[in-house]
Amino acid sequence: MAKNENAVSAFLGAVYGGFLATPTRLECWKKTASGTPISLASSEPLSELKGKRPILLFGGVHGDEPEGVRLAEETLRSLLIWTRDGIPLAPWIVITCLNVDGYKANTRVNARGVDLNRNYPSKDWSSKADAPATHQAQAPAANPKCKASLS
Ligand SMILES: [Zn+2]
Repeated sequence: MAKNENAVSAFLGAVYGGFLATPTRLECWKKTASGTPISLASSEPLSELKGKRPILLFGGVHGDEPEGVRLAEETLRSLLIWTRDGIPLAPWIVITCLNVDGYKANTRVNARGVDLNRNYPSKDWSSKADAPATHQAQAPAANPKCKASLS
């Protein structure tokens, strides 16, 4: 187990106490451009989830919406409990807070000023924002987090 993984496990162990009875994987999935770890939990190691079409849940895409982080945390807590003889009912991946820098700063955008929910690649992607509240990157999936979440 990597050093970061130990820290994440210790943190979530303190938060979830005795709930961690299932073979959940917790790890520092990626780091933000600022170097802040993004934690990921999954029903199985990611390498074993390939081809299984796991349920994927992101919280905290917009850092100024803490209710999404809370919902993802509560969903994770439920996923840890809802098992059949310790085996998850379905494969899953949960990232409780994707935009950790924005969450810490209470901003919609990440530390680079990018609105992650407007940065996914699409055929009609444009660097021109539709509304003043949106913050566009210079290219679709220019943000490392968007690339990572799509791979
Ligand atoms: Zn939002």
